[in-house]
Amino acid sequence: MCGIVGCKGNMDLRKYLINGLKDLDYRGYDSAGIAFILKEKINVYKFKGTVENLESKIPNHIDSDIGIGHTRWATHGVPNDTNAHPHLSFHQHFAIVHNGVIENYKDIKDELIQQGFEFKSETDSEAIVNLIEYYYLQNNDVLKSLFLIGQKLKGSFAIALLHESEPDKLYFYKQASPLLIGVSNDFNLLASDAAPMIKLTKKFIDLEDGQYGYLTSTNQFLFCNGRPIDIVYSNKEPELLVKDLNGYPHFMLKEIEEIDIVIKRIMNHYFYEDKFHFDSKLIEAINECDHVTFIACGTSYHASLIGARYFESLEKNTSVFIASEWAYYPKFLGNKTLYIMLSQSGETADSIRCMQMLSKLGAPILVVTNTKGSTMERNATYSLLLYAGLEVAVASTKAYSAMITTLALLCEACKNNIDVIDDLNNVCKSIRKIYFQKEQILQIARQIKNSPDVFFLGRGYDYEMSLEASLKLKEISYIHSEGVPGGELKHGPIALIDKNVPVIVFISDKIVALSMRGNIKEVESRGAKTFIISSRSLKHEGDAFVVDDTPIYLSPLLKSIFAFYLAYFVSLEKGLNVDKPRNLAKAVTVE
Ligand code: GLU
Repeated sequence: MCGIVGCKGNMDLRKYLINGLKDLDYRGYDSAGIAFILKEKINVYKFKGTVENLESKIPNHIDSDIGIGHTRWATHGVPNDTNAHPHLSFHQHFAIVHNGVIENYKDIKDELIQQGFEFKSETDSEAIVNLIEYYYLQNNDVLKSLFLIGQKLKGSFAIALLHESEPDKLYFYKQASPLLIGVSNDFNLLASDAAPMIKLTKKFIDLEDGQYGYLTSTNQFLFCNGRPIDIVYSNKEPELLVKDLNGYPHFMLKEIEEIDIVIKRIMNHYFYEDKFHFDSKLIEAINECDHVTFIACGTSYHASLIGARYFESLEKNTSVFIASEWAYYPKFLGNKTLYIMLSQSGETADSIRCMQMLSKLGAPILVVTNTKGSTMERNATYSLLLYAGLEVAVASTKAYSAMITTLALLCEACKNNIDVIDDLNNVCKSIRKIYFQKEQILQIARQIKNSPDVFFLGRGYDYEMSLEASLKLKEISYIHSEGVPGGELKHGPIALIDKNVPVIVFISDKIVALSMRGNIKEVESRGAKTFIISSRSLKHEGDAFVVDDTPIYLSPLLKSIFAFYLAYFVSLEKGLNVDKPRNLAKAVTVE
């Protein structure tokens, strides 16, 4: 995870590095640091804590035109000043920022210690910078040293590198962690994603694995396997990438209240002039496959569970796997399988690993992602973009809604059923109504905020959505919670129910409404306080929150708004960091 930035050229270096790290800090926020070259000497400032803390401790003006920066999500070594990046090499010729994990760092560290190198930190990253220096001391050539580390290191590493005696060159390497170059006339930029750079340029280079090189003020030099390669430039849409609170107190609240707009935007991209607009080859691949396998993680996994139901309505066999499980215990279900992988960032390491395995077999892969130009998007057979705009809050909300919307449109396009457009327009209206009723959800949040455990119950779509409701609550409120199918309660989980355990129950589907009311009685008989979230035509006196009726396949879009607000308000009421919960980070780019 983590965010890295770098810049070389005619620009305000301090501003770019600090603002860039602020734009990236949703990716990791254990520590922050910068390095720059001044009079052939590398200066490093790095501290445990936030980018704001770093900002308060660095000089107000930095008279340098080359620098790098990092915001960390610790994988090796506790968050402290020493483990913070940038790391200097032993002889202090180089400084590095690193995103990723070096699997064989211990062996490398041992070898370098034998060669007389000393290490200061517990990180795997320090092994990279010392290895570069070791090679450089032998061959006097940074590019060659970068080529050599590519042969030696195992794992993932996006790096930006300063060399004290070459203040005219900002070096980099990209392997299995994201890294982009932003290009301008008299400066060049590096960052883990486009957000920090989009205010300064629209022109980008999406680096591929194994590519490395250096940036000067006016040029970019790219290599792979020891040979120079041609550069392909791309353009990005600024309006979807700007990080701005727009007057909201938190990104999570802003992102929840953008969901109706996101749904509309997706509809406008995939349906206009009275027709669906999906790649005809993708529709053909769906028509021809007999099995659809989803592979994803976290919230994307939960959206995949809903997506699988949509494909079942197309009479496809479906399976849904967690990527980190599938990667080691893969199941191949025949050669007429279409693989679908959802990922907000398009950089999810666990999913990328699965993709690499599938690509080797030539299996068709549809990637559904919010990030154009991401590793997953670039390597997919087919891709669909979510057009959700930058999602900053670590707890995903609008990306979940966007995934469900996109998959609903795709499956209805396969049936040529344009009713989905009216259905989605109505959902948007109903979502907006919930925005105005959020005070009621705050009241519920106040009643559950001190509970050690919370259960979410539902059946069918409601069950799958309750898994996401539960994940959201635990991510940002640190309350233990579970999503349980209503009928499964009596097979075990009911043992945990007592008067201290609130149970939140979703009722959207007529065919299970009575059974759910039965489940409510069961938990209430054991003392639980219940909160029933029902659809209007199924509501009973005393239900805690009522949403509009909607065709059942879109009910997760509506009920999840309740769940998102609930998690948000509980976190807020507990005085926690809503947007940056402990131990988590956005874009999980390490396995
Ligand atoms: N593995 C490195 C560390 O623990 C980099 C982690 C990151 O990507 O933030 O410092």
